[in-house]
Amino acid sequence: MKKLTALLLALTLLFTSACAGGEGTQDTPDAPDSPPVQEQTPPAETDAPDEPAPEPEAEPEPEPEPPAPVEKEPYEILDPTVMPEGGERDGVKYEAYNGIVEHLFFHPIIAYPELAFDGDSEEKGLDDFMVTADEFWKIMDSCYANGYVLVDIGDVWSETTGDDGQPKMVRNTLYLPEGKKPVVFSYDDTNYYPYMLENGFTYKLVMGDDGKIASWGRNPEGGEVVSRDLDAIPMLDKFVEEHPDFSPFGAKASLSLTGYCGILGYRTQTEREDQSAEHEANRQREREAVKPIIEELKRTGWTFGSHTWGHINLAKKPLDTVKADTEKWLDEVGSLVGETPILYYPHGARPDGNDWTETGPIFQYLQSQGFRVFCSVGTESFSFIKKDLCAVICDRLHPDGTTLRRSRERYLQFYDAKDIMDVDVRPQREILWE
Ligand SMILES: [Zn+2]
Repeated sequence: MKKLTALLLALTLLFTSACAGGEGTQDTPDAPDSPPVQEQTPPAETDAPDEPAPEPEAEPEPEPEPPAPVEKEPYEILDPTVMPEGGERDGVKYEAYNGIVEHLFFHPIIAYPELAFDGDSEEKGLDDFMVTADEFWKIMDSCYANGYVLVDIGDVWSETTGDDGQPKMVRNTLYLPEGKKPVVFSYDDTNYYPYMLENGFTYKLVMGDDGKIASWGRNPEGGEVVSRDLDAIPMLDKFVEEHPDFSPFGAKASLSLTGYCGILGYRTQTEREDQSAEHEANRQREREAVKPIIEELKRTGWTFGSHTWGHINLAKKPLDTVKADTEKWLDEVGSLVGETPILYYPHGARPDGNDWTETGPIFQYLQSQGFRVFCSVGTESFSFIKKDLCAVICDRLHPDGTTLRRSRERYLQFYDAKDIMDVDVRPQREILWE
């Protein structure tokens, strides 16, 4: 317990300076998920046309033309709950799958380990809860080699009407390429919190010159870097471009968003301390700027879930706080990314203390707001369809420093930590394998 308290304290310190201004006590953003201690036990290049030679009587300079929009490559998203006609697509046989849908969740990944692991007070938390860009690529590669294919979490369950006339959730049969196993990826806290920026993370998503999503950030020397190799979002895009059969339906990951520092690196949040016209004008500019990013993400297989506005602990906050927080999320985030049935518990903390044997007032309220799939963190990809309410609860596995160091066996079905972990760039701490 002492250890746990120390860990939580460290995390609180880690996150205290999260967003400029901070919030009042009611919805102070909490620390990031701390999976290991929270889990419960249920099982063409074109030449510009030459300028015309200037006439003797010079005409007015033509207005510079805006760059032609890059033509987007078409992107197909398919429904895994429908068997392809004839049981085959592109020469690949498909078969029904009703087994476990594995679910791996990631925090933002470390672009520059030398900034993350520099001996400062945040080093340990980053080592525990994050993977590096190199490790992330190797994890994708190994999941792919082990026969996993990506599916979107929104396709795993559906809402239907039960015999009693009441709505209920059901698990969908998935139709997968023969011999493949489904895995859902979700990324928590894809908000680009200010504290992360000086610790070796990317700063925001941008549209690259090629029309593809890239990250923008600064390297350790302070230089600006636009890249597709430093952030888990463009990296997964790139991996799927290189290995299209890793995503036979076009699914990418589900992005779990808070709202208190804006989303995707854009500062779209209201601030209680700053209600000035300037702040609001800037907020509206940021809202406009993030829209094309969201549109492109959706077009290319990314989906969104709520991680609450203030990263609040749903096991501890009173109902009024949860209501105010949810309204804020819907207003500031939902209004941009759209409605979502997916809720990712901050800290993995279950509402009302226990969400699968109990259906408490907070769970009921969240369900009434449209959430149907409630995701925690655990030691297996457990899922449970609630009997008394139209909702499903599921746990996610967490590839990160903790499990790389301590849970090699558990993750062998996806990858071998020995092959993944960048032992040389991480702090010298205990590893429970040789
Ligand atoms: Zn979180």
